[in-house]
Amino acid sequence: MKHFKLLVLILILGILVGCSTKKPKNIIIMISDGAGYNHILATDYYQYGESGKQVYQSFPVQHFMSTYSTNAEEYDPQLAWNDTLYIDSKWTDSAASATALSTGYKTKNGYLGLDPDKKKLQHFSEFIKSKGKKLGTVTTVVACHGTPTGFTIHSAFRKDYPGLFQSMILDSDLSVMMGAGLNDEDTMPDHKKYFYVGQKDFWQQVEQEARDFDLDNDGVKDKSVSDIDGDGLPDAWKVIRERQDFLNISKDNAPKRLLGIFQNRANAQYDRAGDKNAEPFEVPLREEIPTLSEMTNAAFNVLDNDQGFWLMIEAGAVDKASHAKWKGRTIEEQIEFNQAVESVVRWIEENSSWDETLLIVTADHETGHISGHSNMLKGPVVDVKNMGKGNMPEFYFLTSEHTNSLVPFYAKGVGASNFTSKASKDDPIHGKYMDSTDLAKTLFELYRD
Ligand SMILES: [Zn+2]
Repeated sequence: MKHFKLLVLILILGILVGCSTKKPKNIIIMISDGAGYNHILATDYYQYGESGKQVYQSFPVQHFMSTYSTNAEEYDPQLAWNDTLYIDSKWTDSAASATALSTGYKTKNGYLGLDPDKKKLQHFSEFIKSKGKKLGTVTTVVACHGTPTGFTIHSAFRKDYPGLFQSMILDSDLSVMMGAGLNDEDTMPDHKKYFYVGQKDFWQQVEQEARDFDLDNDGVKDKSVSDIDGDGLPDAWKVIRERQDFLNISKDNAPKRLLGIFQNRANAQYDRAGDKNAEPFEVPLREEIPTLSEMTNAAFNVLDNDQGFWLMIEAGAVDKASHAKWKGRTIEEQIEFNQAVESVVRWIEENSSWDETLLIVTADHETGHISGHSNMLKGPVVDVKNMGKGNMPEFYFLTSEHTNSLVPFYAKGVGASNFTSKASKDDPIHGKYMDSTDLAKTLFELYRD
């Protein structure tokens, strides 16, 4: 009886603070790399002529998120809106931001899954794997880029792409890894051509779907891929390269582990040939490359299982197009992200439910300091100007770097309401916000027994 009363009390308390104690079966984290408030608004105006129409803009949880790394030590709302140079100088990179989102701890720019003293931090993905869930990462940029690696492995060298790719293949417990990395047709020197897939000797072993790898070319196997299903045997990667191969992955023919490296060295569409300043989609897309939605659907077919899964989906080139200050391509990449969110929502509603799946939609930092006016000295950033559906809105990139601006955060599904209490700080323009570390902290808390 005493226990029953206690249980009722805990239940009532839980309802009062709006907290869920139910653990999500599936956790999906979608990151639009570099997308701030004005990136989303500009894309809203281009797609719909108004804001509020994106599927995530009707999610029950919506607030903002600070993203700074230990290089900045803070987000100060007063300075943010009164000193534009402050916003431009105190930013995180994608490695440190992904580490914060993934582990709940801030680190230095350039560090992946390590604290500022290079001590290993536990990724939420590593923790949840120990609870029996499958893991996956999907991106439109290099498969071993800062965001996917910052959610899964540990390194102090984010530019060491050969090493990062090898680590994801050999050290991670991922069941799915997708992204750019290699175009078979490229004619550049081998060390450049195979730079994003662990270099040539390593890639040849990946392509042969090896279980055991010779890393120093002495004819002796040095290391094996990991055993992801706990049967004591290493589980080799099935490799796919062509768009049709991605489309052909179904629940019936899904391999245990799937490595999808589409036919391009560094990106999906953002840097394709043609006028970089053209309107969105005026330059035809590369037909041979799968869309983010197509890759995501293939990933679901490998990952979906009774124990559930964790999946990180990244639109990686909103950031790159913003660094380059290419407006049309920035909008294209954000549309690609928006469409991927739509297809994820469709998958959840058709194959799972909001009672067992948690979906998070956010960004890792803002890139380009997008504003509706062209001159920083005019004062704080203002909204981009709506020029109507199908027309490029009026906006300007005030920097070619990242900023320390807040980014939007959306969540829906089981456990989503737990983020609301984390968003306790106030920004004078954007209102309630939490910190990037609160994302991981909340996820860890959801699984605390
Ligand atoms: Zn960037």
